Amino acid sequence: MILGHYAVALAAKRAEPRTSLGTLVFAAQLLDELWPVMLLLGLEHVRIVPGLMAASPFDFVDYPITHSLLAAVGWALLVAAVSYAVRRDRKASVILGVAVLSHWLLDVPMHRPDLQLWPGSSIRVGFGLWSSVPATVVIEFGLFACGLALYLRGTRAKDRVGSWGLWAFAAVLVAIFASGFFSPAPPSEQAVGWTTLLLWVFIPWTAWVDRHRTEVAASEEAAPATRAAPGATA
Ligand SMILES: [Zn+2]
Repeated sequence: MILGHYAVALAAKRAEPRTSLGTLVFAAQLLDELWPVMLLLGLEHVRIVPGLMAASPFDFVDYPITHSLLAAVGWALLVAAVSYAVRRDRKASVILGVAVLSHWLLDVPMHRPDLQLWPGSSIRVGFGLWSSVPATVVIEFGLFACGLALYLRGTRAKDRVGSWGLWAFAAVLVAIFASGFFSPAPPSEQAVGWTTLLLWVFIPWTAWVDRHRTEVAASEEAAPATRAAPGATA
C-alpha cells in the first residue's frame, strides 16, 4: 500500500492539528521508510518476481524488523515515547503511535500472507488484495481521497506553497502509485532499496506544505462558501 498510508497522515492532521503533517507522514509511513534501510544493510530481503501479484512484483522473503506485528508495536511505542519526551503532549504522542501501527494494519489486506506476527513466527498474515488491480486501485484511491478531503476541509492555504505544494505532493504520489502498473519491475533488491529511500523526501515536503497552511476553525468550516478555493492565494 502506498497512498493509503499517506491518507492516514492527512486524516490524522484533523485529529491532531498542532502536529505537523510531515511528522504524521513520518509516523504513518515509518515501516516503509525503514524498510529500504534494512534492505540496503542486508538485514531484510525481497525477491523481485515479475507477475507475482497483479499489483506487486515483490516477494517479501523476510522483513521482521520493519513489518512484523510485534516490531510495528515496538516502533509505535518508541515513536510515542520519543514524542512524549520531547513535547509532553499525551494526545499527540498517542496519535503518532497509532499512525505507526496503522501501517501494519493497512498492509495486511494488500500483502500476500507474508507479514509475521513476530520475528521468527511461523504465522504469517495477509489477504493478498494486490492480486487484483481494480481492488488495489479502488482501495488506494478511496483512502487517499478521504484523507485529502479531510485535510483540505481542516486547513486552508496561506499562500501558493500551501496550495500548489500540496497538489504537487498528491500528483507525485499518485504518479508513483500509477507507475507501478506500467513500469518494468526493478532490476535488483539494491535498486528497490535506493529508490524506496526517496520516500523520506515526502517528510520535509509535507512539513513545508503544512507550514504554509492554517487550521480552519470549526465555525468557518460550517460555512464553506467563505473558504478559499484550492489554488487561491488566500
Ligand atoms: Zn509497508
